[in-house]
Amino acid sequence: MATTMAETGFDLTLSEEQELTQRAARDFATEKVLPRAAEIDEQGKIPPEILAQMGKLGFMGTYVPERYGGPCLDAVSYALVVEEINRACASTGVVLCSHMSLAIDPILHHGSEEQKEKYLPKLAQGEWIGCFALSEPASGSDAAAMRTSARRDGDHWILNGTSLRANRPGAEEERDRGVHRREGHAGVLRRQAREKAWDPRFGHRSAHLSGRPRPGRQSPR
Ligand SMILES: Cc1cc2nc3c(=O)[nH]c(=O)nc-3n(C[C@H](O)[C@H](O)[C@H](O)COP(=O)(O)OP(=O)(O)OC[C@H]3O[C@@H](n4cnc5c(N)ncnc54)[C@H](O)[C@@H]3O)c2cc1C
Repeated sequence: MATTMAETGFDLTLSEEQELTQRAARDFATEKVLPRAAEIDEQGKIPPEILAQMGKLGFMGTYVPERYGGPCLDAVSYALVVEEINRACASTGVVLCSHMSLAIDPILHHGSEEQKEKYLPKLAQGEWIGCFALSEPASGSDAAAMRTSARRDGDHWILNGTSLRANRPGAEEERDRGVHRREGHAGVLRRQAREKAWDPRFGHRSAHLSGRPRPGRQSPR
């Protein structure tokens, strides 16, 4: 594998800041995550204190700007953190990736200022865990075949559909005729839906943010 500047044309030398981030993530992953990896996989739950500590260390919002509560590191630092956490526990790693890449990133790049101020500080500090509801019982790779619909109703939206999964820690799971199904207790849920009115043939795909559902309430259907 090409790793040197001469071979790749890129300078792959880590900066001092990136090395510090890598070392902090490696120490944390080795000391706090690795010893609990088997327990996490067996129970299907990530201990909240692990995510809280990751939030305090800045790992839950690596490249979120300081004005939204993040440490404002670069994308390489994020990759280094993901690499180290995944080395210790792939379940914790995928929750981190969904949280950062599928929830924080779209808000950071496409959210309104109001959404950024409302969601990013709590997400970046690990107080809220973000996840993404895309997969449905009948649509996976072919995400455009999704059936969840979104309809504007006055000043709010009505979302109708069933999600198959959305990565998040400590999710209550139910097995329904062999389908691995999780219903929403996310801090922030980014739900993909189609707006039928926009295009009579296919509908326009859009993403909707929703906060933590109240206990006992089901995710929007
Ligand atoms: C680590 C991980 C994290 C995930 N996180 C999330 C998440 O946060 N939120 C969420 O909603 N979902 C998540 N998913 C689910 C993911 O989006 C779906 O698993 C993915 O879209 C595949 O869908 P599927 O499992 O239904 O497989 P299918 O789409 O049914 O595919 C099954 C097989 O058919 C093949 N195939 C599909 N279409 C074609 C085609 N047109 N031509 C040839 N072959 C084809 C595929 O390559 C595959 O081998 C995650 C999955 C993984 C593995």
